[in-house]
Amino acid sequence: MTNPIVEIDGDEMTRIMWAWVKEELLLPYVDLKTEYYDLHVKKRDETNDQITIQAAEAIKRWKVGVKCATITPNAERVKEYNLKKEWPSPNATIRKILDGTIFRAPILVNNVKPAIRFWKKPIIIARHAFGDIYDAVSAKFEEGSEAELVIKKKDGNVNNYKFPKFNGSGIIEAKYNIDKSIMSFARASFSYALMVKLDLWFASKDTISKVYDARFKEIFNQVYENEYKNIFESNGIHYNYYLIDDALARAVRSEGGFVWACKNYEGDVFSDFVSTAFVGTLALMTSELMSPEGYYESEAAHGTVQRHYYRYLKGEKVSTNPTAIIFAWTRGLKRRAELDGNQELYKFSELLEESVKKTIESDKIMTQDVANVADPPINAVVDTQTFIKAVKKNLENSLIKAGLLKA
Ligand code: NAP
Ligand code: MG
Repeated sequence: MTNPIVEIDGDEMTRIMWAWVKEELLLPYVDLKTEYYDLHVKKRDETNDQITIQAAEAIKRWKVGVKCATITPNAERVKEYNLKKEWPSPNATIRKILDGTIFRAPILVNNVKPAIRFWKKPIIIARHAFGDIYDAVSAKFEEGSEAELVIKKKDGNVNNYKFPKFNGSGIIEAKYNIDKSIMSFARASFSYALMVKLDLWFASKDTISKVYDARFKEIFNQVYENEYKNIFESNGIHYNYYLIDDALARAVRSEGGFVWACKNYEGDVFSDFVSTAFVGTLALMTSELMSPEGYYESEAAHGTVQRHYYRYLKGEKVSTNPTAIIFAWTRGLKRRAELDGNQELYKFSELLEESVKKTIESDKIMTQDVANVADPPINAVVDTQTFIKAVKKNLENSLIKAGLLKA
């Protein structure tokens, strides 16, 4: 490797698996260069969370980061780890600093069948994680109330928008979004689709929401026409706008193989729907963050798997699935390889991904979570380290075959 990637370590079971994956699957084969940031919850506490900000700044410098899952402290965790306060979610902090959008895709293996039988290729969901109902103002009102939306402008002028006459008591909610944020979301979505060479979908309800959703549609169209149309066409990929209900029906009928940019609420709902319908376990998902400037971070989609960690601490063998962590590394290394023109590193990452799939598909060696949803069902469930060893064996065989490792 010429340039490093930013390595962001985390907590609990994922921290343990992070070390195992590096030790067994990366360090023996790759001249791994990383700039290391320890986001263990105690380290964040000691540095008043400065370490999280430094890690995000490092991704701006080196363009590529890989992140382990981290605890987002609540009151219980503050007690458990004796913390100064409930520090904010590191993922949210990093996403904000990089102005990034998160893309989630299933990792497909042929013995976990999608609940929707037409699906053959991944559907990658991008969620606009800003505004709308997640930052709305809402209230209950009594019978006989009236309401209007008031916008006070910089020059002191005021615009009033009346709601219809209410027929009784009820509820009211006003949401907003910001042009600049929608633009960043659009750019990150087009950039990601270009990186993976897949069509991009965006959908909303602009026929009904003639100002709000229509503005999203307009911004996506503008960004496409002005910045991405030519390069999409020369790569043979397309941008499609649909009405949201039409998009869902099309997605279910499709064979997959596209990136779907979703507004905040749809992204929240559809990402859980699509991941569950595809693979039924968060450990068979990739999660990648991309910014309009091309800053990139990959991570596992799941959390720190606390329940397994406590069993591990008691000395029990646990069957926690390291697949999403392995893929966080391979995706980060692939991105590094692409930016640096390092074909060997790219090839290695691809072979490692294939080795994981081969372990599950052909060897039928799997962790409990995959065995639970596998079809045909299997009984041979292994613990995490045995699974990693099986992947290692497949990896070495394929590295030897590819001439990247001496027999
Ligand atoms: P979680 O870590 O995702 O685990 C929830 C359950 O999902 C586990 O108990 C396990 O089910 C299953 N699971 C998740 N990952 C698995 C894997 N790799 N292999 C096998 N099974 C897996 O969520 P959580 O327990 O709600 O959260 C724990 C901590 O993670 C929290 O402190 C939260 O703040 C943090 N978190 C971090 C991130 C992040 O950094 N990206 C994301 C979400 C949550 P069974 O117990 O039934 O086997
Ligand atoms: Mg959700």
